[in-house]
Amino acid sequence: MLPIERGLEIVMSTAMAKQRADWMPAESVPLLDSIHRILREDVFCDADSPRFDKAIRDGFAVRFEDLAEVPAVLTVVGESRAGVGADVIVQRGQCCEIMTGAPLPPGANAVVMIENTERLSPTSVRILQSARENEGLLQRGAEARKGDKILQAGRRIGLADLGLLASTGKSTVVVSKKPRAAIIATGDELVEVDQEPQSGQIRNSNTYTICAQVSEAGAEPVILGIGRDNLDDLRNKIGQGLEHDLLLVSGGVSMGKYDLVETVFSEFGIEILFDKIAMKPGKPTVFGHRGNTYVFGLPGNPISTMVAFHMFVRPVILFLLKAENTSPKILEAKLEAMAKCDPQRAALVPAFVRFADGQYRIRTAPWKGSSDLVGLARANALIMIPRREGALEAGENAQFLLME
Ligand code: AMP
Ligand code: MG
Repeated sequence: MLPIERGLEIVMSTAMAKQRADWMPAESVPLLDSIHRILREDVFCDADSPRFDKAIRDGFAVRFEDLAEVPAVLTVVGESRAGVGADVIVQRGQCCEIMTGAPLPPGANAVVMIENTERLSPTSVRILQSARENEGLLQRGAEARKGDKILQAGRRIGLADLGLLASTGKSTVVVSKKPRAAIIATGDELVEVDQEPQSGQIRNSNTYTICAQVSEAGAEPVILGIGRDNLDDLRNKIGQGLEHDLLLVSGGVSMGKYDLVETVFSEFGIEILFDKIAMKPGKPTVFGHRGNTYVFGLPGNPISTMVAFHMFVRPVILFLLKAENTSPKILEAKLEAMAKCDPQRAALVPAFVRFADGQYRIRTAPWKGSSDLVGLARANALIMIPRREGALEAGENAQFLLME
């Protein structure tokens, strides 16, 4: 059976081989809509940042040479506040009152914070501490120079990036268009959320979790509803799904008599590149493609679906978006208690993770297997237990996915 990493390699090398045809086109969106989208343009600073020598303390703009001996009494010749500079030149023996964010008046070369001064009169102040040159201020261009590249295409726009785009005057931003991912939940036992399951039935939860995962990854979910476990219904739904950039089918990919999804995939000429991964849960994950559509069969159990999506679908979506980083978001924590390994398959098990004493610490949570959303909802992570003999011991490092 294929290890997870090998499966991911197959998925990504398929995407890579198709690349140019498949990358999503770019579009321009209003700044606010760009958060968490993938940037498709390099962004350059429109001006030095900061634009002027700027005070980073409330206090007095001084010439540091005047403070060789302190205390020193200086003449206050003006006031510079944020947005309104002082129309003065600070000469020897002089200083200028200044507020955080205000431009440094010419002549001054340091800012002494107000806590280290004693106002004597409206025109004089006693400075109690000396200053180094450029102390208490940020020089023009210290963060970036006009024309510097401040953001590179391929980046997922984060909070700081959004602020930076605003401050450099980008009211619209070029990002990747969202690929469309068709979602089909299969199963004769499924009823919709607002229905009361009769004997043997369960509510469809996968459509919702897949939708949320699709959106988080940066794609547009298209819900095609429930496909029943018969060839006609699946042909109809899967046929519609193949019109999209991705087709995600949950359920119907195990070995049961009514697991018909792979059969229908083949009928449609979908080239299947794997249909089993050495992972628990999520073993019967199917990956294939037809034309420009990426096709995934995600095992039906709710947690299997989530895990398979995270490991294989999310990276493809990020690839289509031309993101610089397509890897699954995997973090590391110190194990607080032993966790048994399986020599056949890598396992993903609900776990409690917390941040304490400078690092993540993790331990497995009780659960009843791959359908147990109750157990997973009580936990906050999935710990990745490697495929090998023996166990991970307490104190060892383990990888995990944060489940948010
Ligand atoms: P399957 O992969 O079709 O054999 O499904 C495996 C298990 O997952 C079965 O117990 C199904 O009832 C359950 N399951 C399948 N699809 C869904 C779904 N959309 N929502 C919740 N559970 C599901
Ligand atoms: Mg089924």
